[in-house]
Amino acid sequence: MLYYSLNRQSPPVDFRTATIAGQAPDGGLYFPENIPKFSAEFLRDLPRLSQADIACEVMRPYVGDTIPEADLRRICAETVNFEFPLVPVTEHISSLELFHGPTLAFKDVGARFMSRCLGYFSQGETAPVTVLVATSGDTGGAVAHGFLGVLGVEVVILYPSGKVSPLQELQLTTLGQNITALEVEGNFDDCQRLVKQAFLDEGLTSRRTLTSANSINVARWLPQQLYYLFAMQQWAPAAPPVVAVPSGNFGNLCAGLLAHASGLPVGHFIAACNANDAGAEYLRTAIFTPKTAVATISNAMDVGHPSNFVRILELFKHEHATISQLLSGYTVSDADTSATIQRVQAEHDYLLDPHGAVAFFALENYLREYPAAAGFLLATAHPVKFPEVVEPLIGRKVELPSALHYLLEKPKQSVPLAPSYESLREWLLQ
Ligand SMILES: *Cc1c(COP(=O)(O)O)cnc(C)c1O
Repeated sequence: MLYYSLNRQSPPVDFRTATIAGQAPDGGLYFPENIPKFSAEFLRDLPRLSQADIACEVMRPYVGDTIPEADLRRICAETVNFEFPLVPVTEHISSLELFHGPTLAFKDVGARFMSRCLGYFSQGETAPVTVLVATSGDTGGAVAHGFLGVLGVEVVILYPSGKVSPLQELQLTTLGQNITALEVEGNFDDCQRLVKQAFLDEGLTSRRTLTSANSINVARWLPQQLYYLFAMQQWAPAAPPVVAVPSGNFGNLCAGLLAHASGLPVGHFIAACNANDAGAEYLRTAIFTPKTAVATISNAMDVGHPSNFVRILELFKHEHATISQLLSGYTVSDADTSATIQRVQAEHDYLLDPHGAVAFFALENYLREYPAAAGFLLATAHPVKFPEVVEPLIGRKVELPSALHYLLEKPKQSVPLAPSYESLREWLLQ
């Protein structure tokens, strides 16, 4: 399998090169040259296959011959070694819980797959690869945890001191091993500026191999198809489901559409957006206008210019009429999101996080128009990650899952860093 750049000014590359580079030299996103089809046997046997078998079968054509079968099998098994339960909430709506991974967020799957691929590709290299990331909280935790213990890869993660939640800080700073957390005396923009400067510093990059763990990387994007297959393993009704995806950068949704293009029987997709709704607006009007991001309570979706949207356009050859047959867009306000969390807890005894609540509200509205249909939403994060939003709405504390209690016992280890590039450079070269 080769990947071409959506800017079409760089040559096609294989999975290895696309994973190491992240973005094409011309600044474009990589896209697969052809879309594999799932066989009828595979779809029929889906409920009986293990998650690792499914992961291997789906990822093999995308990886091609860049990773041998046995290594791919190990990588897949390690990537999906936790549960993805489809939990009924109402008569017609279920919740696909994607938050049972180590950092309680769906980004764990992409981060775990990508880190292990990079680890494989860096075998035999004499110098370790350093993954340098700035985080405002969530992504950094998934990336850092994804890379934990991967040989040949060191992770240096910059986070703004005092500006991430206590749980997020524990997830960043208690890992140890090959993960170092630099606690920057500044804000997220400072962290991002320092990282960008490091990538441009040839004096540094000639002495230390730096790579980013960017969310547009094909190795993070493609394995997100797997959730949709795990959901279909558990989907009982005869009619294909309506699937609502809380969307920010549209990577997750685009992966679902890709699985559908390969033959996964999904009836309809919903792009559920908060006030940052450039994508939803395109679906309603056929006009795509990126905006400046505004802050909402579903803050992982506060994206004004969704970078993966071009991949959706490419998948449908830029034909709005075809896209809008399969995909509807909804814009959900913070007020409706809060009311949904409260109401679903009260009426169905099910606690949604703000991102899942956006998708629940959108799905409910769609099903009001199509009452014979049923579907599920993607619950992308555990509600315990957003206590400041969720707890006042339901009037009680959200308990940390017992699998995470160990975090509370581990000492925080971070390296304080002044918000100047010189300090970062000095630290990286020491
Ligand atoms: C990243 C994220 C999203 C948005 O996913 P995209 O693939 O960027 O659309 C939704 N919910 C949560 C909790 C996230 O962390």
